[in-house]
Amino acid sequence: MIINNRTFRGGYLFDKFKGEPDQKLVETGPPGKACVPLKQGFGEEVQPEVRVGDTVSAGQIIGRNDENLSSPVHSPIAGIVKSIASGVINIESSGENTEGKWKALPGFSAEWQNLDRNILEDLVYLSGASGLDSGGIPTRYMSSPITSEEVENIIIHNTEADLFSPLTDVLLQGPRGEEFAGGCLILDKLFPKARKHIVVSRKNRKIIEQFETTFKGNDSFEFYAVKPKYPANLEEVLVPAILGKPFPYGFGAVNIGVVVLSFQTVLHVYQAVAQGKPVIERIISLGGERFTENLHARVRVGTTVEALIKGRIKEGENRYIFNSINTGVRVKDLSLPVDRSISSVIAIPDEKAGESMSFARPGFIKDSYSYTFASVIPLFKKGLNTNVHGEKRACISCGFCEEVCPVRILPNLLHKYVEKNIIEETLANYKIFNCIDCNLCTYVCTSKIGVASLIKLGKEKLRADGVDNGEFIRKNFALKGIH
Ligand code: SF4
Ligand code: SF4
Repeated sequence: MIINNRTFRGGYLFDKFKGEPDQKLVETGPPGKACVPLKQGFGEEVQPEVRVGDTVSAGQIIGRNDENLSSPVHSPIAGIVKSIASGVINIESSGENTEGKWKALPGFSAEWQNLDRNILEDLVYLSGASGLDSGGIPTRYMSSPITSEEVENIIIHNTEADLFSPLTDVLLQGPRGEEFAGGCLILDKLFPKARKHIVVSRKNRKIIEQFETTFKGNDSFEFYAVKPKYPANLEEVLVPAILGKPFPYGFGAVNIGVVVLSFQTVLHVYQAVAQGKPVIERIISLGGERFTENLHARVRVGTTVEALIKGRIKEGENRYIFNSINTGVRVKDLSLPVDRSISSVIAIPDEKAGESMSFARPGFIKDSYSYTFASVIPLFKKGLNTNVHGEKRACISCGFCEEVCPVRILPNLLHKYVEKNIIEETLANYKIFNCIDCNLCTYVCTSKIGVASLIKLGKEKLRADGVDNGEFIRKNFALKGIH
């Protein structure tokens, strides 16, 4: 049975925007040089296992530290180590075409059903798949703050709730559909006592119906089709919506025994175990109207943004962002690499000019929660750039920020306290620490107030004064992995 009714209050449906990726997938191939950060995704920085001048092969482990919370990193190409500095290993390609080739992990088998648990854990750890997503995958190594026995639930999701995120259709295209099913079953073998929840957007109901048939008879799986409203992709919202459990804001899902994984991580798990393939490439969506074509690309880890966007970008001032238009990191330096935590690269017009009396002028590049702009006419796709389209005005108490807030706090009240520099415990009583920095309140604010950044500032000031919600959470949750 597919469960349809799991949702949350608030949120926002980002729909019909220019620059949404289509179903095309291109191969970018091995780059001429690769920059491999020693910290990628979840966990701490690892130690280099190579020296300048060493020859490395694609897939070779080049950084590892079994003594800290981390997972190994690999060379994505065959080549020579040119430098190791500032936590990055720079490798120059030898020119060898390593398309579809890699140094296989020891012990892998296409007959993975016959592998014992220790080998499965070794493969998941050595591949680096255990270092993906927000809390890692527990193995007998230090790949997660919790142990395998502490995992009660695994949520595997691709809700397509964030604008420009990779499409489920593309991630599971062709043989990857079966690989995904295999990855789920490997996780079932690793965590037999945990319940597994597979969550997709309602748009992908047909896909989930197929998986329901594939897993028939295995009672530890449950299937969900949810409305793709943002931020259904963030664990602070996903966990309460799917499991009906309260969330320990300020801590991770993993601290209540919930491992939250993306579809792509499950594919990496399968590829590690059945093909011996480490995490050396990612499927990345190229979103935003500044790309000449919005598609998906299979990209080697360590490829610089500059190399990735070459020949794919329109002229003009652009802003580049990793992963999310709402919570992502701005890429100011195009020599930065795509690492294994990246799933989207976004390019939008960087519009700095102000726009006076914006609220009185309609336009197709203005998304509007208040339905006052022409951009909501469903026939047209909306644009998106960095212009806030208007000047800051006083709060008019429209209540839109409160309406969208997915954690049911009062952004309209909290931002006023911070703006007036009233930093006191009252803010904690109004649950300021429940804010998950999703930025929706800023997005919908009719008065162009940076509501979310004010709330973030309020939290920082309170923490500097020694006030946080740690004690409250510890009292009310049996936290795991906190020592
Ligand atoms: S940023 Fe914080 S206050 Fe604003 S909508 Fe998101 S959770 Fe609510
Ligand atoms: S959305 Fe903006 S104007 Fe409306 S209540 Fe919130 S802060 Fe005030």
